Amino acid sequence: MSKFEVPYKIYLDENEIPQSWYNVRADMKNKPAPLIHPGTLQPLKFEDMQPIFCDELIRQELDDVNPYIPIPQEVQDFYKMYRPSPLTHAVFLEKALDTPAHIFYKFEGNNTSGSHKLNSAIAQAYYAKKQGLKGVTTETGAGQWGTALSMACSYFGLDCKVFMVKVSYEQKPFRREVMRTYGASVTPSPSMDTNIGRKINEEFPGTTGSLGCAISEAVEAATSTPGYRYELGSVLNQVLLHQSIIGLETKAACDKYGIKPDIIIGCAGGGSNLGGLISPFMGEKLRGEADYQIIAVEPASCPSLTRGKFAYDFCDTGKVCPMAKMYTLGHDFIPSANHAGGLRYHGMSPVLSQLYHDGYMEARAVEQTSVFEAAVQFARVEGILPAPESSHAIRAAIDEALKCKETGEEKTIILGLTGTGYFDLKAYEQYNNGTMSDYIPTDEDLAKGFATIPDINL
Ligand SMILES: *Cc1c(COP(=O)(O)O)cnc(C)c1O
Repeated sequence: MSKFEVPYKIYLDENEIPQSWYNVRADMKNKPAPLIHPGTLQPLKFEDMQPIFCDELIRQELDDVNPYIPIPQEVQDFYKMYRPSPLTHAVFLEKALDTPAHIFYKFEGNNTSGSHKLNSAIAQAYYAKKQGLKGVTTETGAGQWGTALSMACSYFGLDCKVFMVKVSYEQKPFRREVMRTYGASVTPSPSMDTNIGRKINEEFPGTTGSLGCAISEAVEAATSTPGYRYELGSVLNQVLLHQSIIGLETKAACDKYGIKPDIIIGCAGGGSNLGGLISPFMGEKLRGEADYQIIAVEPASCPSLTRGKFAYDFCDTGKVCPMAKMYTLGHDFIPSANHAGGLRYHGMSPVLSQLYHDGYMEARAVEQTSVFEAAVQFARVEGILPAPESSHAIRAAIDEALKCKETGEEKTIILGLTGTGYFDLKAYEQYNNGTMSDYIPTDEDLAKGFATIPDINL
């Protein structure tokens, strides 16, 4: 018999839907370090960021004090198309694992972009529109963020220029076409459209690109085109703020049915879904009202939290962006070519980095074949084909549930299921064919990346 009398899928009523985002920084004693200017090393002020970001988003980026920030009505209206997302009691998975643990997942894949990224994309597009801008630029790797921003821009009638990492542009045509269907222009990066793109193409002929490089191009394109600003889908404080909608809904659903999680698990690339999922729970933890075990799960091939350095580093390869203090593998770090599972960014959200540094959460690195093993197990019993990224969290949740089986503990586990894997079937194909391999970077590999981290002690 379940400890909970809960529906398989918990939906919130309309009057239970959060109307404000929660800003976890307000409750942090050690605030995340400010973004700094790479030249002067001074913390960036509002005016410094104005050429890059929309005004209101800069205010959110800099706001370390206000715990609640109202969600604009237009954004709330858009959220209604696909939110609230269900919190599902994974009874079939529990049964398959024969575990006394209770597993719940918050599923963010119920929209065309297929992931949680739309939660921030629609907010960012809204503020750009409100400021009277003509359009926005961004980068995308496999394409989830670009797809989300394309949808959001199309809703508000903004131009959207996406620099897509070349290897994905060529090998992952499907998301590219979703972006174009929503009216975005999609350029493979490095391109010949920007100074930095031309420079990288010259230095590394035939390069298939990287996220860090695409970011540089998108920032350059935004700052050199009147009426444009740049938008970023993860890492930044503002993105975690928007993604807090995930955690607020989860918390409301838990409170509604008396569910008290012991463990909260999310995958971590740049940290936005995890930051959003844990925010309200972390707030309680920071205020001393409750305790939770919080686990960030990252790929063993891109282990920024578990093996990176906590230091100021560039957010992009071209060094055109502000610098952030975060766990980083070095801005030149590119995961091994056999890595198929996403979460490839070299750094981590400064908020999560600080919380991790202060011991409020833990981190774990997992190998991709074990991630896909978990993905397949989950897909077969819960009926959702999970994104490879999300499957990192599934892996850790299954591991925790199996520990409970050993100890007999009836722990309650919540995991963030960030998206669907429909466009990741090349990776599933490799797994199904038995050709997927693992690569754990050696200390020597990592040392190369660390050598590029500037020596800044602030
Ligand atoms: C982008 C993405 C992630 C990782 O990004 P975070 O900012 O770390 O959340 C995870 N899952 C899916 C499905 C994504 O699209």
